[in-house]
Amino acid sequence: MDKREVRFPEILFDLKLFFKVSIPFIDIHTHHPVNSEEIVSVPSLFLQDVDSKNDIIGPFSTAIHPWHAASFSRGQVRSMLESVIKQPGLIAIGETGLDKVCSADFQQQKLLFELHLEFAENHRKPLIIHAVKSWNELILHLKHSKVPFIFHGYSGGIELTKQLIDLGCYFSVGMSVLKMTPRFHSAFQIIPITSLFFETDNSSGNIEEIYQEVSKIADIPLDRLKIQIKENFENLFTNIELE
Ligand SMILES: [Zn+2]
Repeated sequence: MDKREVRFPEILFDLKLFFKVSIPFIDIHTHHPVNSEEIVSVPSLFLQDVDSKNDIIGPFSTAIHPWHAASFSRGQVRSMLESVIKQPGLIAIGETGLDKVCSADFQQQKLLFELHLEFAENHRKPLIIHAVKSWNELILHLKHSKVPFIFHGYSGGIELTKQLIDLGCYFSVGMSVLKMTPRFHSAFQIIPITSLFFETDNSSGNIEEIYQEVSKIADIPLDRLKIQIKENFENLFTNIELE
C-alpha cells in the first residue's frame, strides 16, 4: 500500500492543541502516560476499560489487546468499538494484533483483529499492531489494508524490515534501542526516518532517553530528530489533504 494514497478525512481536530511546546517529545504508545509540557503521550487504553460516555482529553488509541481476545465475543467488541469510535481524541486503533505465544485462542485473536481492521478502514484510522510470531498472517492483511500499520515495540531483523518497508508501514521502537542487538542494529539502519516513531510501552523508562540514543545511533542532532518525528506524527494523523 502506498502511504500517499491514505486520507483521513475524519481526523479534523488539531493535534497541535495538545502540543504545549512547539517541538515536543512524542511517545506514540504508552501504558503509563506522563504529564509533562515537553512530552506528548499517546496512551494505549484497553477497550474494555474505556468509558465511552466521558470524552478523553488528548490523543489516545484503544483496542482489545490480543492477550484478552478470549474474554470478548465479536459482538461485544463491535459494540464497544462503535461507542468509542467517535471520540475526538481517538487517533489510532490499537494495540491490536496477533500473538502466537500468549494463551488466548489464535482463531479468536484473528477474528477480533479483522474486526479492528474493519473499523480502522471504515473510519480511516491507522492501526497500532502488537505482533509476536505472527508475521505471515499480519503481512497478508497489511498487503490489502487501506490504512497504515504501525508495528509497535519493533525489533525485527533485516529481511522482515525490508519487506515491511516495501509495504509502507511504520515502525515504533522502544527501550530495545538502549540495548540494541547486532541483528536489530543492522535492521534499524535501513528504516526510513520518515517511517519512525518512539514509545515507552509498558516500561518506566523515559521517552527522552530513546530520542537521545537514536540521535547517537543515527548521527542526527536531537533537535532535528524531534522535528522529524513531529512531522511524521502530523503527516500520519492530521494531514487530511494527502491525495
Ligand atoms: Zn503496549
